[in-house]
Amino acid sequence: MTLAETVRAAFTAEFGTEPEGCWCAPGRVNLIGEHVDYAGGLCLPMALPQVTTVAMRRRSDHLLRVRSAGFDPVDLDLRDRHVDGWAAYVAGVIWTLDPPGFTGADIAVASDVPVGAGLSSSAALGTSIAVALADLCGLPLDEDGRDRLATACVRAENDYAGARTGGLDQRIALHARPGHALLLDFADGSSEHIPFDAEAQGLTVLVVDTGTGHRLADGQYGQRRGEVEDATRLLGVGTLRNAASADPLDDRVLRRRARHVIDEIARVREAAELLRAGRIRDLGPLLDASHRSLRDDFEVSCPELDTAVGAAVAAGALGARMVGGGFGGSAIALCENGHVDPVRQAVADAAARRDFAAPTFLRATASGGAR
Ligand code: ADP
Repeated sequence: MTLAETVRAAFTAEFGTEPEGCWCAPGRVNLIGEHVDYAGGLCLPMALPQVTTVAMRRRSDHLLRVRSAGFDPVDLDLRDRHVDGWAAYVAGVIWTLDPPGFTGADIAVASDVPVGAGLSSSAALGTSIAVALADLCGLPLDEDGRDRLATACVRAENDYAGARTGGLDQRIALHARPGHALLLDFADGSSEHIPFDAEAQGLTVLVVDTGTGHRLADGQYGQRRGEVEDATRLLGVGTLRNAASADPLDDRVLRRRARHVIDEIARVREAAELLRAGRIRDLGPLLDASHRSLRDDFEVSCPELDTAVGAAVAAGALGARMVGGGFGGSAIALCENGHVDPVRQAVADAAARRDFAAPTFLRATASGGAR
């Protein structure tokens, strides 16, 4: 059964009627450009083939009933403007978008995006709801319309789910094109689709989910953002995008944090140039350098991620790095197709030797956006 069939069946079983339609939005990996979105930087994400799918039928009585396998069912009155838990990603988008004539809905959710793995299942959920609402309520789904949906989803996450998100996840989920990565510029909001067809070059982007849920909630994310803000102020630049060097900073920690951001932005520029020239293989050293920088200068890696990245490279990956906010979650390894199996084996063996959770693997094919 496809995911769309699964979610339709779940909807009908739960609510006893047919949905008006099904909509989906993808998870993502960021090829490079980590912890730079809130510093006016550049990121280069791509959408995964894994998606979150929602089936929806509107109601006229202001009730919202949402169901997702493995999560508590939630029923609420939309006029109360109060929600707890996972349904915040659904109700928050409804309240923020406030689509004309929308007065409640039954919604079933099914997803093959791993949850809490740093692959952005939360943004996949929020943006799939946003396209569903746009489609049902006649909001435009062209590029400008999608920009507005992305902005609303970011606000919904900030205001209702209490997640501080910079917008990378929502923008890639809404704008992704198959066979392309998306260069996002957080200084001016612009973007560029860059061809990224690894398969055509005999390459695989292997995603390693370490099974260690990323633990951004423990305050580290906020602390790093604070350090970046301090470094920006001390350097006297509007954002670190405008800083040439971290050397003038006296504080050793702030200097390292700023150095990561400045160097990472330069790496994204270089990566984008390589992709424009079709030189995907040459991304390898940039991925390695990004990981070292996140581990040593920005200090957001963890033993599980370092072990996965180290084992992947030792087994022949062209390059590997942690992705997402850090402190757990996933890593990517760029591999020749012939090296995928040995890399998987080496990563699994290395985790077992250290008594870490068994990692799981996905192949990241650059896929389309919310639809
Ligand atoms: P991720 O990196 O996967 O986005 P987060 O911790 O940011 O990790 O978001 C995960 C949260 O998003 C879940 O705890 C849940 O609240 C919500 N979520 C994501 N996917 C689903 C889903 N399919 N069904 C219900 N809630 C989901």
